[in-house]
Amino acid sequence: MSFKLLYPEFKTKALTFSYDDGQIFDRRLVEIFNRYGLKATFHLNSGTLDTEGFLRKDELSELFEGHEIACHGVMHEFPTHLSPERLVQEFYQDRLTLETCTGRIIRGCSYAYGEYNDRVVRTLKTLGFAYSRTVESTGRHNVPRDFLRWTPSCHHNDAFGELADSFLNKPDHGKIPLFYVWGHSFEFDREGTWDAMEKFCERMHGQPDVWYTTNIDYVDYMNATCGLLFSADGTRVRNLSSIPVYAEIDGERKIL
Ligand SMILES: [Zn+2]
Repeated sequence: MSFKLLYPEFKTKALTFSYDDGQIFDRRLVEIFNRYGLKATFHLNSGTLDTEGFLRKDELSELFEGHEIACHGVMHEFPTHLSPERLVQEFYQDRLTLETCTGRIIRGCSYAYGEYNDRVVRTLKTLGFAYSRTVESTGRHNVPRDFLRWTPSCHHNDAFGELADSFLNKPDHGKIPLFYVWGHSFEFDREGTWDAMEKFCERMHGQPDVWYTTNIDYVDYMNATCGLLFSADGTRVRNLSSIPVYAEIDGERKIL
């Protein structure tokens, strides 16, 4: 049996975005994503919400409808500098507050200042986080090896050129590429790059072979694919998760 894993709706590529810090510029960014049907994750510091320049708690649910809200630490502290107790508080309290504000279950994170070590990773795992993003760009469109040390493709400043071209022009075989772009929305304002971002989103939108996804939906799907059971002779496969898995088996499209 030949088995080729695909993304939901038999898409062959995936695109996701990740934006940190929850400043008011997220409002303009999410409007651009919505206009082009793109999905993103917004990593917020719950302790800065309702202060000048940052989003309000009471706007989060509506503003980010269809997108993911995730943690970034209560007060944007260096995770590696915190005592074990403070480290737990920084991320557990962030989850609690964001979940209370939105009624959602929040399992995503990104490391403030991109700082993490094995102790930080262990703590996040214990607190129920499914993934956390680093700032170590790969310059590639690869599927991550470790979701708690998730290395993105690139910062948005590096996304607009060659990496966009190579993603869109990738042949429809082989690995299932993921284009993961991260940044801060205030950078578009500070650097005058709103137009470049808008052009990029316009270029990326409406591609029939691309799955537009939040970070957590990507993680949940990939975890479901890892749980597939194959018979010893490789002729049969079962999906025990409640998430449908899309594949091409012996050249035929199947939903498992
Ligand atoms: Zn940050």
